[in-house]
Amino acid sequence: MMKRAVAPFWYRAIYWSHAGEVMKRRKRFLIVTGIAVLCFTQSMPAQERPIAILHARLIDGLGRPPVEDAVLILEGNKIVYAGPANAAPVPRGAQLIEAKGKTVMPGLADMHVHLQGGWDGISMDLLGYQRYLNAMLYAGITTVLDTGDYQPWILQLRQEAASGHLLSPRIYCTGAMIDAADPAWPDLAYTLSSRAQIPELVLRDKRAGVDLIKGYANLSDRVLRRLVTEAHKEKIRVVIDQWDRNGSPDLVQTGIDGFAHAPTRKMPADDLQIIHDHGLFVITTLTVEEYSGRRRLADLKFLDEPLIADTTPPWFLTELRAEATRTLSEVEKSDVQNSVAGFDEMKRNVKKLLDAGVLLAAGTDAPYPGVFQGEAIHHELELLIAAGMTPLEAIRTATYNGARIMQAEEEWGSLQSGRSANVLIVAGNPAERISDTRKIETVILHGKIVDRASLRFDAKRDPGFRAVNGNFSSPLQ
Ligand SMILES: [Zn+2]
Repeated sequence: MMKRAVAPFWYRAIYWSHAGEVMKRRKRFLIVTGIAVLCFTQSMPAQERPIAILHARLIDGLGRPPVEDAVLILEGNKIVYAGPANAAPVPRGAQLIEAKGKTVMPGLADMHVHLQGGWDGISMDLLGYQRYLNAMLYAGITTVLDTGDYQPWILQLRQEAASGHLLSPRIYCTGAMIDAADPAWPDLAYTLSSRAQIPELVLRDKRAGVDLIKGYANLSDRVLRRLVTEAHKEKIRVVIDQWDRNGSPDLVQTGIDGFAHAPTRKMPADDLQIIHDHGLFVITTLTVEEYSGRRRLADLKFLDEPLIADTTPPWFLTELRAEATRTLSEVEKSDVQNSVAGFDEMKRNVKKLLDAGVLLAAGTDAPYPGVFQGEAIHHELELLIAAGMTPLEAIRTATYNGARIMQAEEEWGSLQSGRSANVLIVAGNPAERISDTRKIETVILHGKIVDRASLRFDAKRDPGFRAVNGNFSSPLQ
């Protein structure tokens, strides 16, 4: 047996100092790991932890009856559980939000807005977009469809919002509107002078990646038919606004996919049927039609509503008060009268379209006088009730159905496992009183709790650019 060699002193010294270091490191590692494991849930930033909303009433957006005493669990930007509390797999370390007596519901979708518009809907406020986006988030809107805008500008906003650089609801957009000679909104439209231009125009929109194409009022049915054909070849759908012609069977026959406004014309049963049979969607916009009849301007008490007062520059309100009390020209008076009749007809049509099984999504056409980005969607919900919807039908129209018109219902718009974590907690019960949607306590956007207080209008931070008027003519001029 060989005598075991004794390591030289220098080797032992190095070995033991090294072993000691290893031991120390191991010990340190174990201690650190132990502490990390013990404190894992406390040490993670709150927004990265799963969120569990407990004991809330759950309105899923699909129109089904609310689940009382429900739990909603969010992990990252996904809903992982939405259902009864007794079966809820609340993860250890989740951020718990007690919501007894309150309601959880999907974030709202306003599927007809214009982000460039000044408060009056005619002027421009290109620099005020963050104020609008703040007002919408403050009001619980987590998705919008911009239905006609400066194309490069809105595409950039959409991209910045999608990349997370811009605090914003998710933005879908049509880009510029497509119109014919003498466009109603020249700065917001591409003007066609020949059908031969259509293929190139559609390809340009395809390359730009617009979500839908919007055809506008002056397009003839013949031009519209060609536009739809070319757009469908490129797998882009076409939504239109042709004012008094919205809902007309001739327009439906051009192959369009939807109307950007509910019709204001009388709708016989056959016309409803053809819209249904062609699978068209209709965006409601009762709010803007009510504005056109100036009904909401008759009593300005609603301006004290926090969703407006907290997010609106004071000069908007000053100018709006002046607008509400000015003397109208004879031409304007007759327009207003027509719009009052149109609003009543539109309400009837919304109910008829609902009963006919047509896909309706809520939109507002904000901004216009009295039609505020954010608050308007809550007013639209109230008008949908006035038109004859139940509160759950109205909520579905402003959540799940918004996703359906974008063919994205598998992704967002309802509180179901696997959907995006865009969630509101509101005080009260909107399934019984629709105006309770206004009582927003918490907005969760893409899985993160939004700091609502930071969204309020702040004259110190907001440089207060004023809308520039007169750059283009309004359809009413
Ligand atoms: Zn519009």
